[in-house]
Amino acid sequence: MIEEGSVYGNGVRIANHILGGARFSIRPDDGVLDPNCRAWNFDNLYVTDGSCMPTSGGANPTLTIQANAFRIGEHLAQNVL
Ligand SMILES: Cc1cc2nc3c(=O)[nH]c(=O)nc-3n(C[C@H](O)[C@H](O)[C@H](O)COP(=O)(O)OP(=O)(O)OC[C@H]3O[C@@H](n4cnc5c(N)ncnc54)[C@H](O)[C@@H]3O)c2cc1C
Repeated sequence: MIEEGSVYGNGVRIANHILGGARFSIRPDDGVLDPNCRAWNFDNLYVTDGSCMPTSGGANPTLTIQANAFRIGEHLAQNVL
């Protein structure tokens, strides 16, 4: 039996990649964060979890989330701290 929301009919393997709650964008009208994950209109509020990703891709997102967080860490170290 295939359950609603299941992965390949296996209910135990149901997983969610919840992304995009605070998308980064080139223009303020299109998202919550600027390309360096700083909240538009706030000087020192950065969001570096998966919510910055505009959409969920076709692959698991955790390593991309971590890589982006390191990128923002470098940006903060060089430009803010
Ligand atoms: C069952 C399942 C299996 C998955 N398997 C994989 C996989 O194999 N590979 C992969 O790449 N991805 C996988 N994912 C997706 C991956 O886990 C997520 O995409 C990733 O963890 C998201 O990272 P995040 O930092 O955005 O959020 P989270 O890892 O959810 O971190 C959010 C953190 O914020 C904390 N928090 C929430 N609210 C507050 C608050 N008000 N104050 C303080 N802290 C708060 C939470 O306690 C949590 O520690 C899986 C997800 C699920 C549910």
